[in-house]
Parts: sequence; structure tokens; C-alpha cells
Amino acid sequence: MTQAVAERRTDFGPPQYERFLPPAIKKNYGKWKYHEILKPGVMVHHAESGDKLFTVRAASGRLLSIDKIRLYCDLADKYCDGYFRFTSRHNVEFLTDKSENIEPLIADLKKLGHPVGGIGNAISAIVHTQGWIHCHSAATDASGIVQSVMDDLIGRFEQRELPGKLRIALACCLNMCGAVHCSDIAILGIHRRPPKLDHANLKKLCEIPSASASCPTAAIRPATVNGLPSVEVIEEKCMFCANCFTVCPAMKMNNPLNDGVSIWVGGKVSNARVEPMFSKLAIPYLPNNPPRWPEVTEAVRNLVDLWAKNARKYERMGEWINRISWPKFFKMAGIQFQKEHIDDFRHAGLTFKRSTHLTF
Ligand code: SF4
Ligand code: SF4
Repeated sequence: MTQAVAERRTDFGPPQYERFLPPAIKKNYGKWKYHEILKPGVMVHHAESGDKLFTVRAASGRLLSIDKIRLYCDLADKYCDGYFRFTSRHNVEFLTDKSENIEPLIADLKKLGHPVGGIGNAISAIVHTQGWIHCHSAATDASGIVQSVMDDLIGRFEQRELPGKLRIALACCLNMCGAVHCSDIAILGIHRRPPKLDHANLKKLCEIPSASASCPTAAIRPATVNGLPSVEVIEEKCMFCANCFTVCPAMKMNNPLNDGVSIWVGGKVSNARVEPMFSKLAIPYLPNNPPRWPEVTEAVRNLVDLWAKNARKYERMGEWINRISWPKFFKMAGIQFQKEHIDDFRHAGLTFKRSTHLTF
């Protein structure tokens, strides 16, 4: 145990991560030489000491029942001395130093309905947010769309036939608890109308100064309406972000007719070849169409197929588009340029530090 851990006087915060590392990782911490992908969903890390650590990656839902987590724990106990982890994109990974455990583990995962794959030049599981199941400001669902898109693309998860890595994310509003700003394809729920004000109840449900201060574009100001203290919204300034609804339930955002989904492309987190990139708007609006979201599923499949057919080896979606130019990408994808594509924050974006490369 490190000195810092030994000196902890409270139990605030998460437990120290060292307690959960598999012994092979603890022993070889910072001393790994390289890794190899053995087959779809299976890789091995080689340490300087000669130790090997095998990883089996499987698709997992993001919203998990306790029963499902217990099943994962049983598999980890059976094959991996009790160790498994979740990746930042919600894949579940089982870690073992015994190569003979790989095939029986894969067979058990498949029996439970968990495809194995997502490593290297493949689609990884889709990171997503709460959606209608939990969050009040959601403009679309999360789990439902992700299930439909992954059902459609599952062959791309189980094989390694894509030009490069493919990372898809979903956030159900533009506050984006998901990684939509930095994914090859991002599915983003959007509101398209300003909040509807319940003036009769606003003073009872909300604090007017907090509601006014919640707006990032200063579109809300105190006002007296029908003799009652309330607020007004300058609609031209509203970007439909739903921040106000978060602090004031009398400023309703959800709108079954106008809420829907936009598709963004070209983001990445990795520093490989070029620095990380932000996603940019491709398709401004698709309707909410549960339970299988055919419009979203088809749009994502078309983008994946187009990139798979035209990109060079290892070229991520954004790198490919930058090489061929955005106008050409729009043409190839059959996307009409609309007013929503005009990027008024363009120069702000260029000033953000996106790279871990430091210059002095
Ligand atoms: Fe809620 Fe928006 Fe986060 Fe979705 S992305 S969980 S709607 S804050
Ligand atoms: Fe302001 Fe966002 Fe509310 Fe519009 S939705 S009024 S931009 S806080």
C-alpha cells in the first residue's frame, strides 16, 4: 500500500484503485512492453518480466441489473481469479494470465448472449447516457437506440474488417454526459424549441434568480406576467440546451413533436497520427421513432459503410473526411448542407487545447 493510502483518515472518495488491480498488473506496473491482438476480442499484453496478461472483451449493456453483475463475477471467479473490468465505452473485459481459460470463457460468454469482439479495427460497444429511463432533460432515448444500432452493426463488432477503430457514442441531450464530442460517429438528442413557461406555477416551483442565471446565452430574464413574478425567454438567443429546465421544472423542454436526434462525425480521443478532434454536425435532425429507430439505424449504417469502403488503413472517420474534404464527404454521404451546419463557435473550437503534445 502506498504511503498516501496508508495516511488516509476518512473514507471519502472512491477506494484506492491499487486494491483492485490483478496481481499481474500490480507486479508489472509501468513495465509493459507491447500488446498483440490474437483474434477478435482477445489480446495479450507482454511485460518486461516475461509475464503475459490475456484480455477477453465482450459487449455489455450499460444499464446492468445486479443479477447480470453477479453473472460477470461468477465468470471472473471461474476463469480470472475474480478480476474483470469495464472499459470507458462499456465493454466488459476479463483479465487472466492463463491462456487455457480463453476458449471456455468465450464459450460461456456466448452462451449468456454476450458477443466477443470490439478490439482493434472494429466497432467498440457504444458509450451512452441515461435516456428516457432516468434523465428529465432527455430529448431522445439512449439504451433503445444503442440496442437497435448495435443489433444492426454487430458483425462489425465481432470482426476486425474495418479500416480503423470505430467509436460511436450517444448522448440524449447536448449537455452530453456521453463522449459525443470526441467519437467517430455521435448520436445526439436535440430539443428544437425554447422552453414552455408555466407562469402560474413558476414562482412556486423555482427561484427566479437561479432560473435566470442558469442560461448560458443569457436568454432568460425576470418578468412580471399576468401580475405574477416569473421569467421571460428571448427566443432568438435560446439554443435549446435545457439547462433552465434542470433548475426550474416550470420551464418544460420535452416536446414529443419536435425533439429528435442529430448525427455528428469525425471526433476522436486518440493522439495517434493527428491530435484529438471534435465531432462535427452531419445530419441535423432525425425523428424519434421507438422502439427500433429505423431512421437513426440506417443513417449510422450508411456512414459506417461509406467510411469502410473509402478510408485508408488505420484512417479514423475524421482523418478520412479531412483528407477528402468536408464538401466531398457531404456529397458522398448524400447530406444536404443546411443552415444548422454553420458553425458559429468555430474559432472558439480552434483555441481549445486538444492534444497531450506540449509545446513551449
Ligand atoms: Fe440527461 Fe442530457 Fe445527460 Fe442525457 S445527456 S443523461 S438528457 S443531462
Ligand atoms: Fe437558455 Fe438553454 Fe433554457 Fe434556452 S434552453 S432558455 S438556452 S437555458
